[in-house]
Amino acid sequence: MACNEVASNEAARDEVVMADIVRKQAGENTRAVHLPPAPEPAQQPLGTPVYRTAAFQFGTADEYRAVLNDEVPGYSYSRIDNPTVDAFARAVAALEGVNLPRWPAAQAFASGMAAISGMFMTFARAGAHVIASAAVYGGTYSLLRNVLSRFGMETEFVDITDLDAVEEAVRPTTRIIFAETIANPTTTVADLRRLAEIAHDNGALFVVDSTLAPPVICRPLEHGADLVIHSATKYIGGHSDATGGVITGRIELISSIRAVRVDTGGSLAPDEAFLLRRGLETLPLRVRRACATASVFAAALSRHPAVMRIDYPGLPSHPGHEVARRTFDAGPEGVRFGAIVTVTPHGGREAGIAFADKLRLATLASSLGGTHTKVSHVASTTHRQLDDRALTAAGIDPGAVRFSIGLEDAEDLISDAYVALESLGRA
Ligand SMILES: *Cc1c(COP(=O)(O)O)cnc(C)c1O
Repeated sequence: MACNEVASNEAARDEVVMADIVRKQAGENTRAVHLPPAPEPAQQPLGTPVYRTAAFQFGTADEYRAVLNDEVPGYSYSRIDNPTVDAFARAVAALEGVNLPRWPAAQAFASGMAAISGMFMTFARAGAHVIASAAVYGGTYSLLRNVLSRFGMETEFVDITDLDAVEEAVRPTTRIIFAETIANPTTTVADLRRLAEIAHDNGALFVVDSTLAPPVICRPLEHGADLVIHSATKYIGGHSDATGGVITGRIELISSIRAVRVDTGGSLAPDEAFLLRRGLETLPLRVRRACATASVFAAALSRHPAVMRIDYPGLPSHPGHEVARRTFDAGPEGVRFGAIVTVTPHGGREAGIAFADKLRLATLASSLGGTHTKVSHVASTTHRQLDDRALTAAGIDPGAVRFSIGLEDAEDLISDAYVALESLGRA
């Protein structure tokens, strides 16, 4: 045994010497390509190294085989796994309360939609039935309605605040109940605990898109969800400069999702993973501040006579207020009700458009969850496919303007909105 070890060490040393000789005797092009490798620092870097490489190299053919077969941990190809991407995925798992030493703790994707489609492709199949919130993100709605339906999967969209309706929708073939912690732009709040019970009583998975309620607001796994998904493009990245998605939750489910991600190829790029992981370091600071500003903003706007309606879970009049209180985290500043506020002025569609146009500080821009406060006139943007009747059925007023509150000072945002509202009456 000891003798073999000595022999193999000598063989390995000989390999290195031989390889070095081959390189030194080689031509200038060969030497240029086969440069010495980057050093591996003995000290752990504080920032996240970006492994901007598509491929990893092996010492032996057997090591190559063993890594590809997941017999030993390691990296082979960045569509499969990449250390920077893993660093990001694990960080999200840690913040969602997943037990880290278990591997893989989370899976990162090129976008939120890649994560959501990866999850459905893993667990749904032809003949499967899915119950999804009627207030689900437009991309998810379209994926289920227009894409996955072609593969024999059937989705029923239900008002998930009506738990009886959810129970009635369950069939023997129901495999997934899919909800969002807070929906956009209605700010509908899901009763995660009750929905998890309905799913589990019926042998289905309960999957939560918690993009609008990242870990400092809510950790859905602690309320019974099997999996939690984020569009990391939003609060996690937080600066509107990177696109990504991530899923974490029960370990055996994550392993299955990894297999599908590898085969479908929607993997996250290392540069994006670096930005998204950096975003996590300030996630609590940013989200707590945005939530606090949103609650002051919502209260101030609800007092303005030109405002017909405010949707914000922090207002006691909101139908999901009590559920939010039970489900969301609190800090010294109170319960964090999210930072999405939907404001509907009197005067219908035209008034909503005029209000959005008059805002100077809040920016007309897509996406949400960044440092800048963003607005959109809901009926002409995210919900443009719906006519007034369909909008009303979805609980959205044609004049609704959605604010994603950012990090500006609350007073500035309020006076911006007041000036815009005042101008409506004069138009
Ligand atoms: C933005 C968003 C998505 C899609 O994420 P992308 O990163 O844009 O693909 C999914 N769900 C919700 C709730 C979102 O806001």
